[in-house]
Amino acid sequence: MNREKESIRSLEPYVTNPTVCSVKLDANEGNSELYLDLLKNLANSDITLNYYPDDSYTDLKKAINAYVGYEPKNITVGNGSSELLDLCIKTFVDKDETILSLDPTFSMYSIYAQVFSAKYIGAKAEDDFVLNVDSIIEEIKESDPKLVILCNPNNPTGTLLTKDEVRKIVKSTDALIALDEAYMEFSDESLIDEVMEYDNLLIVKTLSKAFSLAGIRAGYIVANEGLITSIEKVRAPYNLNSLSAYIATKALEQKERMYDYIKDVKEQREVIYNALVDLNVKTYKSGANFVFFKSDIEDLQKKLVEKDVLIRKFSGKLDGYYRISIGTKEQNQKFLEAFKSIM
Ligand SMILES: *Cc1c(COP(=O)(O)O)cnc(C)c1O
Repeated sequence: MNREKESIRSLEPYVTNPTVCSVKLDANEGNSELYLDLLKNLANSDITLNYYPDDSYTDLKKAINAYVGYEPKNITVGNGSSELLDLCIKTFVDKDETILSLDPTFSMYSIYAQVFSAKYIGAKAEDDFVLNVDSIIEEIKESDPKLVILCNPNNPTGTLLTKDEVRKIVKSTDALIALDEAYMEFSDESLIDEVMEYDNLLIVKTLSKAFSLAGIRAGYIVANEGLITSIEKVRAPYNLNSLSAYIATKALEQKERMYDYIKDVKEQREVIYNALVDLNVKTYKSGANFVFFKSDIEDLQKKLVEKDVLIRKFSGKLDGYYRISIGTKEQNQKFLEAFKSIM
């Protein structure tokens, strides 16, 4: 007997790659050392384990305020931005209403949409994954979505929309725009400074990428008070655990480290991009902490794994495309050496 609700029957569980390689560049994770001392300092913190977390997340919101400049009433925190994107759909989209995003983009958006029986449309990118803002606006007009999810810079292509392009989309519609700026620290086109000027814009942020804290699952949304109040109705109390909230707070208080790190990543991104282009590999300019490329080498991912390097391989419509996260200089060199030897 199939007890599953109708909407999820065609889904498969999300599978992450269990392969272990010493050079792990498949999931856009940051630097393992960046905030490692915070873990060691946990023992000396005043965290309590018997009490529930402070559900107002006062300290964390204070630290987020120092980073983005907004008050607690304009912030919701969550267990990774994954939970927050899920919360946005739970809060704003009913069964059979439409969610519009990009194609290709982060695969979780369509999965969350399906779980809530929403319709999902991906606005197709043009050749070479170029995003045409006017055709996105046209698709929004035609499909009249309740929610538009825009990933900028986009995962997995790395494509970056300018502030003006995103503004144009936000102003073109009454639909709510959830702008996923998970990778925006690696570029300079954030709309975060002006998010309060729009009544239909919320920005989803994570500590998983630039802050290199994917393991603690911490993210936040900033938006006007009305939108935040709606999300707060749906958010489960204590959704972020005390240990994660504490580490997130401390990391935000020491954001200078993160700025040094993103400087390195941007330099290394150029190195990898140029090296791949020099090898005549079709490579895409990226605004994020990864580079997307196409290769006809058969079983490239497997061959790299044999050389102890793990990158992300895509399938289906993106068969033949790969994404390599920007690692340390040494990791990137190991990737390039392995890649050259396979060629
Ligand atoms: C990695 C990533 C996130 C971050 O997810 P978390 O749940 O915060 O780790 C969000 N959006 C996109 C597009 C991503 O690639």
